[in-house]
Amino acid sequence: MTVAVCVRCGARKFGAFTGCESCDFFPKTERDLIYSLAFTDHHFPVSELDRIGRDIRTGQTLGLPKEQEDALRPAVKEQMRMFGAVLAGAWKKDRAEKKNETRSRIVAALRAGGINVASTSNDIQFCTNAAAQIALALMKRNGVTQESATAEATVVGGVVAVIAAEHLTERLGCSLEPVVGGLVPAIVASWLPPGLPAAVLDEMRARAAPTTDQVMRTYRESPQIVGKVSQVLAGWLADPAGDGLTRLVSFFEQILQSARVVRTEGGKKIDSSGAVRSSTTSAAPVLDLAPAWPA
Ligand SMILES: [Zn+2]
Repeated sequence: MTVAVCVRCGARKFGAFTGCESCDFFPKTERDLIYSLAFTDHHFPVSELDRIGRDIRTGQTLGLPKEQEDALRPAVKEQMRMFGAVLAGAWKKDRAEKKNETRSRIVAALRAGGINVASTSNDIQFCTNAAAQIALALMKRNGVTQESATAEATVVGGVVAVIAAEHLTERLGCSLEPVVGGLVPAIVASWLPPGLPAAVLDEMRARAAPTTDQVMRTYRESPQIVGKVSQVLAGWLADPAGDGLTRLVSFFEQILQSARVVRTEGGKKIDSSGAVRSSTTSAAPVLDLAPAWPA
């Protein structure tokens, strides 16, 4: 099997004219194909290919002598003429199948956790729905009902939903629109009972706004929190029967408690959110984001 290097990200791959599993790049232009063909074990020892890969990763511009480019061009032209469309088609089909597989795994994990998510072919919509359902399920498991939901509970649900949505879209290989101000209102709106008068909605929004801003700032901007939720979600999706959901519930509870402190103390003396903020630096104390869940 031909050992090759992805000319975009430098990852090792097999076959010169194949797509890259790491970055999804599929060489199509003549130049990309020439370089893809050049950087194979037909032309370099593997140790040299690894060095070339490192150079690409560190952003170095690679150049081949013109004679070498010219020497490879006929083979590339022939390759493009005969197999270009076939290879690109096969690659696309392969990616679509992998995506469907990921999607099915996500749906199965959600179902195992008692969460039903509407099936739609739109990835962003799918992830938004799934994330909203995850947050709602967490709220329900913490005894938050539609009637008892306070502004901060809703906001915390929004925070968890945003992080969940980001995680899910990453898994599906699609990207979200900038989320703050877009996704949260969309998710929160999907939780409200239908038919509320616009004036009531406006008032709810106005009341929730300061809490929203503060909680969002506190929790959304912490790479540690985002990482933790993603990690817990990933574990849960991989093993829905494990304790992933329990951890997610306790995490949600912790955010909810801190959000209450943010609201009642005006954000001036907040131990836990302060710990969260400072925990983004490695020297600072690390907040226990997954405390023992009461038996
Ligand atoms: Zn790549």
